[in-house]
Amino acid sequence: MLLLRNARYLSRDLLEGFLRPGDAAVDATAGNGHDTLALCQAVGPAGRVFAFDIQQDALDATRALLAENHVLDERVRLILDSHANLERHVDRPVRCVLFNLGWLPTGDHRLTTRTPSTLAAVGAALRLLAPGGALSICCYPGHEEGARELAALQDWAAGLDIRQFNALEARFANQREDSPKLFLIQRAP
Ligand code: SAM
Repeated sequence: MLLLRNARYLSRDLLEGFLRPGDAAVDATAGNGHDTLALCQAVGPAGRVFAFDIQQDALDATRALLAENHVLDERVRLILDSHANLERHVDRPVRCVLFNLGWLPTGDHRLTTRTPSTLAAVGAALRLLAPGGALSICCYPGHEEGARELAALQDWAAGLDIRQFNALEARFANQREDSPKLFLIQRAP
């Protein structure tokens, strides 16, 4: 059952609706691995998930969570690199790409996503999307860099060619103005 909690959960829940067993997907910000785990479960043992983070600690936490849940197998690749370099590592079209921006909640808040690499990465993600595939972005405007990312992503999403993409921007109307925002973008089937 779909639960409306916040943009973070909603972006993951909605993205799962696009995935089928055997699909390929990308977690562009692995963090503690919760989103990677959800993607691995959605694509099943025959699928493929590429999970990126710039912090070894994040990939270690992701690896531990996957092992705990028995999905640490050939379906997943953990990649220590910026998501700006997605196209160096992902060798096939993917059904979904998920971005949960910001910092590792338990880590160094200076190691946050940054507007220039975020913009490079979402551009690369769209190029990798298979027809009918979707990209979700959860953005946190409650801190300075997050506010810059939101403004840049709003301009970027508004400029996408409507013949190729449908771009949704959503916020919870009864949450604080600076609560997380969601973008969901689908490539035309
Ligand atoms: N999806 C995660 C989960 O389920 O636990 C949470 C992600 S956390 C909010 C954001 C993550 O993005 C942090 O782990 C941070 O290290 C990572 N990050 C920051 N800049 C990055 C970049 N350029 N490329 C890839 N990951 C990056």
